[in-house]
Amino acid sequence: MAVYRSIVILTGAGISAESGLRTFRAEDGLWEDHPVEQVATPEGFARDPDLVQRFYDERRAQVLAAEPNAAHQALGRLDREFDGDLLLVTQNIDDLHERGGAERVLHMHGEALSAWCRACDARHPWQGSLRDGPACPSCGAVAMRPDIVWFGEMPYQMERIFSALAGADLFVSIGTSGAVYPAAGFVQQAADHGARTLELNLERSAGSHWFDETRLGAASELVPQWVDEVLRA
Ligand SMILES: [Zn+2]
Repeated sequence: MAVYRSIVILTGAGISAESGLRTFRAEDGLWEDHPVEQVATPEGFARDPDLVQRFYDERRAQVLAAEPNAAHQALGRLDREFDGDLLLVTQNIDDLHERGGAERVLHMHGEALSAWCRACDARHPWQGSLRDGPACPSCGAVAMRPDIVWFGEMPYQMERIFSALAGADLFVSIGTSGAVYPAAGFVQQAADHGARTLELNLERSAGSHWFDETRLGAASELVPQWVDEVLRA
């Protein structure tokens, strides 16, 4: 087994599904029975802010009630014990990677437990409701929205992600459908720069043919096995 110096990991809905969290499904365009245009676009928020705030209030409560699973714990162990470069990019808005012990985490689609003030641009850790219009702790304005990247908005820290992909010698995708860009293109970016590419997923994804290797199964089984391999090498 090769010894890697720089690993980029992308995680998606599949890793949190085993902790009971559901997310947007590309196949039918629904998220918890709501059309994504209604709850995950700036237009939907402008049309019915109360409904959208209530939706994310519920997501926030679900995240707080969920627990990290064996896959999150294994990646936390990798982050602690792997002494090369590591970047864990997640499409998930929950904090289960952090509670699983990982620190080098980048939330490209935002975070359920964060509120973003549109008046002063400050972001605040947030566990309660936004529906009742709390004032921003920084500026006092009543202008906070979920700190979530909606469809039509730019994912966070793309430059940092592409720079990490360009320097990676291993790219691993865990529990993602391979259907939502720009994340679906990361495997090609990494491969173009010479990285080995590995997919761990429940079933073959739309992007499976781009990977050097695909392993099929539950993240809670595949990820701990893979982390053992990397740390033993
Ligand atoms: Zn503010």
